[in-house]
Amino acid sequence: MTFTETLSSGYGQSFSVEDVLYEVQTDFQHLIIFRNSVFGTVMALDGVVQTTERDEFIYHEMMVHVPLIAHAQAKRVLIIGGGDGGILREVVKHSGVEEITQVEIDAQVIDMCNTYLPHHSNGAFDDPRVSIVIQDGVEFVSQTQQTFDVIISDCTDPIGPGEVLFTSDFYAGCKRILSADGIFVAQNGVPFMQPQELKDTQVRLGAYFNEQTFYTLTVPTYAGGVMALAWASDCLQHRCVSAEHINAYLAQHAIHTRYYTAEVHQAAFALPGYIQALLR
Ligand code: SAM
Repeated sequence: MTFTETLSSGYGQSFSVEDVLYEVQTDFQHLIIFRNSVFGTVMALDGVVQTTERDEFIYHEMMVHVPLIAHAQAKRVLIIGGGDGGILREVVKHSGVEEITQVEIDAQVIDMCNTYLPHHSNGAFDDPRVSIVIQDGVEFVSQTQQTFDVIISDCTDPIGPGEVLFTSDFYAGCKRILSADGIFVAQNGVPFMQPQELKDTQVRLGAYFNEQTFYTLTVPTYAGGVMALAWASDCLQHRCVSAEHINAYLAQHAIHTRYYTAEVHQAAFALPGYIQALLR
């Protein structure tokens, strides 16, 4: 049996399926978790690979450590989506963070990833600083009275339930609840394959913040070139952290990483020419 991703028409990566561990149509999306000989356990939603056991560390380290180390003083962190627990695992490594709120629309993703991908969260759901809210992220950011220093949108692509997490309404809600020197980051697809997604975010998110840009990373199973993560903040100095600051922070918090380094953090904001051209 083969699983072929259906994200782009005319092109798709395929995985041999050794074993289907779990498959269900939840109230929100089609969820499948299967074993592959190269990437280990793979989780896909609505036909699109979300995470794999073997390469997840790249995405989760870059989504979390770039904003949290740039901010350096974050006490309250909001995660939107992130049901597999990988973002949470990396956030709890930051000992200065006092409260972590995670808003996930689909409780079945959390439950099934806890069962079949336990190393993603690695026990982080039991951290006393963590509150889990089962709700649509756009509803939460428009209604909550809480504020946050860092917001991380670990969402699906802008199809199905994740579509609302790429709208102006969502970005307005995030701006409303982000502290004055806060940082917002979000997964924003692979620009070579989804150029319009990048341009839409630039316009919609850029309307609310003094600085809006993207940083990149390379994840083997997010196929088609480098992936872009959206970055937005009103505090311009967060973009320019020194290698000394990053290395001191990693040492102080005893954070060990396999992809994220001081050099990778700084270089990730250097955008390839074809991406710069999309943003002009
Ligand atoms: N890392 C992945 C990627 O880049 O493809 C995405 C990870 S997956 C954990 C994304 C999560 O977002 C899913 O668990 C999904 O249920 C959740 N999600 C989708 N739409 C949402 C919404 N409107 N509000 C909250 N969570 C949502």
